[in-house]
Amino acid sequence: STADSIESERLHALSLLAAGVAHEIGNPLNSINIHLQLLDREIGYLEDATAKAELKELVDVSRKEVGRLDTIIRQFLKALRPSLPERMPHKLQELIKETLGVMKHEIKDRRMLVETDFADDVPAVAVDETQVKQVFFNVVKNALQAMSDGGILKIETYLSDRFVGVVVEDNGSGIDPEKLGAIYEPYHTTKAEGTGLGMMIVQRIMRDHGGEIEINSEPGHGTRMTLRFPREDARLNLLEAPEQE
Ligand code: ADP
Repeated sequence: STADSIESERLHALSLLAAGVAHEIGNPLNSINIHLQLLDREIGYLEDATAKAELKELVDVSRKEVGRLDTIIRQFLKALRPSLPERMPHKLQELIKETLGVMKHEIKDRRMLVETDFADDVPAVAVDETQVKQVFFNVVKNALQAMSDGGILKIETYLSDRFVGVVVEDNGSGIDPEKLGAIYEPYHTTKAEGTGLGMMIVQRIMRDHGGEIEINSEPGHGTRMTLRFPREDARLNLLEAPEQE
C-alpha cells in the first residue's frame, strides 16, 4: 500500500542517515585510537614508575572504551545494511525445518506445540538462505515469546498464482491495534529485554526479496503473520505472456 511504501521510504532514509552518522564516528574514533597508542608509547619512556603505572591505566581504560564503541558501531552498521541477497533456489519448508531445529531447545523448554503443514506442490523460490532463515527465526521467536507455556505455533506453506506463502500463527498475546503501526520501527519493543530490531530486519529482507508481509492480530487471541515470496516461475510466465497471444 502507499502507507507502507511511505513508511519503508522513511525507514530507508532513516537507516541511511544513521549509517552515515555511524560511519562518520568511525574516523575520529580511529584517530583517537592512534593517538592513544602514541600516548602509550610516550608513557613507556617515563622514568617515574608510579606516574607511569597511573598514566598507563588511564590510557588502557580509554583504549578499551574506544574498542567497545568500535564494536557497537560495527554491529550497528551490520544490522543496518546487510549484504545484498545472494539468491539461490530453496524449498522454504526446508529452511523452516532447519530454523526450527536451531530453536528446538527453546520450543521444548517452553512446552510449545508446533504444528506444521507444508503443501507438497510448493516449488523452490530464489532466496538468500541466511537472510530468509533470519526472517523465520525472528518471526518464530516473536511468536514463541508472545505465548505462555503450552502455546500452539502453527506454520504452513501454500502456493498461489504469484507467491509461495508462509503462515506463522501463534495463540499468544496478540498485538495492540495502536501498536501495530510501529511494529517495523527500529527500537520499538514491548519486551524488557527486546531490541526492537527484529521486525525491521524482517521487513527489509522481505522487501529485498520482492516479498510481502501481512499481519493479522487479535489482542488476547494471537497473531498470524503471512510472508509471501515471489515465485520465479510466475515471473517467467508473466514475461512469456505476450508471446502466447
Ligand atoms: P523485539 O522482539 O526485540 O521486541 P521486534 O522488532 O522483533 O523486536 O518486535 C517488535 C514488537 O512487536 C515486539 O516487542 C512485540 O510487541 C510485537 N510483536 C512482534 N511479533 C509479535 C507476535 N507474534 N505476537 C505479539 N506481539 C508481537
